[in-house]
Amino acid sequence: MSEKIRKSDAEWRALLSPEVYRVTREKGTEAAFSGCFYACKTPGEYHCACCDAPLFRSGEKFDSGSGWPSFWQPVNDAAVSTLSDTSHGMRRTEVLCARCDAHLGHVFDDGPPPSGLRYCINSLALTLKESG
Ligand SMILES: [Zn+2]
Repeated sequence: MSEKIRKSDAEWRALLSPEVYRVTREKGTEAAFSGCFYACKTPGEYHCACCDAPLFRSGEKFDSGSGWPSFWQPVNDAAVSTLSDTSHGMRRTEVLCARCDAHLGHVFDDGPPPSGLRYCINSLALTLKESG
């Protein structure tokens, strides 16, 4: 497990584009079907847009029809952390990058087997490292 990355809001703001900052540091959500990865089938590994930690793989990505990139499991259990989120009058589970606490999206329990989980992630929180 790599070391935790901590930066001030001002440091993140200087590093990230305004859109990425809004989603990852202010817990924003990109509009459905607006992101660059929801329909992406390119083989590779998805990394954190803030700290470049590996988070998800194309092999565990599936087409959920939601308009956001969806995965049934993270690259490993230590890669992401979760938090209970009761904002917007909903009871949801927030998914964060375990290394830098970037807001990634939410996890729901209506995913496909074998995990039954659906990690619903903002494209803006991810960068794709194409394999090969
Ligand atoms: Zn991160």
